[in-house]
Amino acid sequence: METKWLKVDNIVDNLMNHPHIVQAAKLLTENEIVAFPTETVYGLGANAKSDEAVQKIYQAKGRPSDNPLIIHVANIKQVEEMVEEIPKSAQILMDRFWPGPLTILFPQKKGVLSPAVTANLPTVAIRMPNHPIALALIEAAQLPIAAPSANRSGKPSPTKASHVYDDLQGKIAAIIDGGETGVGVESTVIDCTENIPVILRPGGITKEQIEAVIGEVHIDAALHSEKEKPKSPGMKYTHYAPDAPLIVLDGSKEWIQKKIEEQQRKGLKVGILTTEENKDFYDADVVISCGNRKDLTTVAAKLYDTLREFNQYEIDLIYSEAFPNEQIGDAIMNRLRKAAGHRIEKEDQ
Ligand code: AMP
Ligand code: MG
Repeated sequence: METKWLKVDNIVDNLMNHPHIVQAAKLLTENEIVAFPTETVYGLGANAKSDEAVQKIYQAKGRPSDNPLIIHVANIKQVEEMVEEIPKSAQILMDRFWPGPLTILFPQKKGVLSPAVTANLPTVAIRMPNHPIALALIEAAQLPIAAPSANRSGKPSPTKASHVYDDLQGKIAAIIDGGETGVGVESTVIDCTENIPVILRPGGITKEQIEAVIGEVHIDAALHSEKEKPKSPGMKYTHYAPDAPLIVLDGSKEWIQKKIEEQQRKGLKVGILTTEENKDFYDADVVISCGNRKDLTTVAAKLYDTLREFNQYEIDLIYSEAFPNEQIGDAIMNRLRKAAGHRIEKEDQ
């Protein structure tokens, strides 16, 4: 199949009537799959009510079928149609953070969605994206849209239309090119079906922001221990991996430079993922800055693009600096740990 490239400038008014949005919405109603920008990463959308459409997502991504999809909505009426009830904590979070990068788990109403979309779980994960193109597309299609990240499973998530094209050209009906996404890491996933809500995946909305409005929340134990089984099926899979092996180094830049030289003495070509503050310090085969340590939202925004950029070079190993496990740094480290297959080395203090 030829993948249509549909460019949309998201500053124009009345996006719902933009010919490319109309065309993409029509494809969705015909159970085709279409990639579109959100404020986090590019999503690969399908009609969440259709088995046929949802199966196309799993197939195009090469995604394991036990890893459920997030449903994207443009209004609260769509939520009410799919859930048994809206727990109080969920209502507060929706009022405060939607549209935005927060996915909420609700008890699912039976018989509305394709069972494949939730991998037969009794819950359903829903979010309202804060992006004019995503919202216009969902409104125009008049459907709940199942949308995982628009990359091949295991690869870094796409933050540009060209990333989607590299991974999925020929496998999907269309890509809406709306420029670069903003947040850069996926939404936070929170289970509001428990008495005390549980964060299943760190992301664009931080634990600190959530606790400021609903009080104590728990964190799925599996996020910080490899022994626990994660409550969110997707969290157990390797993700986001660049072509060369990645190792996260938690220590001083002097120590990291020594590690680089050790590997180079063995004849390996080494890349380093660093930040503006440290980029001139390192002597490696490839040095890429991912943003400013002073403002970690800049690192989140460029993380996946940087991981993909390393694939342009013939290198044997990538080292990455570590980041503080707080605020948006928690999501950054979660993605880096997974991209590294949990290989982290700490400097002896
Ligand atoms: P992605 O679509 O690639 O952003 O990943 C979606 C994440 O949400 C995965 O980690 C899924 O396992 C998780 N998820 C989606 N629906 C559910 C659900 N009903 N229960 C638990 N986790 C879910
Ligand atoms: Mg994904």
